[in-house]
Amino acid sequence: MKNDKALVVFSGGQDSTTCLFWAKERFAEVEAVTFNYNQRHKLEIECAQQIAKELGIRHHILDMSLLNQLAPNALTRDEIEVKDGEEGELPSTFVPGRNLLFLSFAGVLASQINAKHIITGVCETDFSGYPDCRDIFIKSLNVTLNLSMDHQFVIHTPLMWLNKAETWKLADELNALDYVREKTLTCYNGIPADGCGECPACHLRKNGLEEYLKEKEEL
Ligand code: ZN
Repeated sequence: MKNDKALVVFSGGQDSTTCLFWAKERFAEVEAVTFNYNQRHKLEIECAQQIAKELGIRHHILDMSLLNQLAPNALTRDEIEVKDGEEGELPSTFVPGRNLLFLSFAGVLASQINAKHIITGVCETDFSGYPDCRDIFIKSLNVTLNLSMDHQFVIHTPLMWLNKAETWKLADELNALDYVREKTLTCYNGIPADGCGECPACHLRKNGLEEYLKEKEEL
């Protein structure tokens, strides 16, 4: 696959930054795409820009503000509280159709830049009920993208079956644990690195890191 070009769907968070390192190791050429949908935290885009620059990766930022217009939610509106879904409800951070739209636009961009491989950090293991993070959805979309553009894209999901501790382990294996820990932004309150420590995203990230570091110590 060394001769192939890859496009990473990149938010500047832990998962997609780990995917960026993963892709750099596998493909001759890697570019990244970030979607601007008027996230609550503009810093997300800045983090992504900074990381792409430091890793020497060509970075595309696409305007997806229509997503904000269509689907107001806790990631885009200050007045909507971040909370887990209760009794089978989806969490308030769920944006209907987000991955469908992002990956479709990534597909269009991939065809423009002649990239066969599309990498996304979606994950079914920690899935908080997001239907568009499931493996079956990605496989279905891969078929749809190929049929729609008469292309042979391959969508890769290196984190699909990993829990957060295993995602940290993968970053460590790619010699990127400290980098991912210090440079990425996952926190719903917009605080980089170890974050606010209080929101659901910080809990997941911190618990995973502690679990992995403990495991590593015991070896
Ligand atoms: Zn946080």
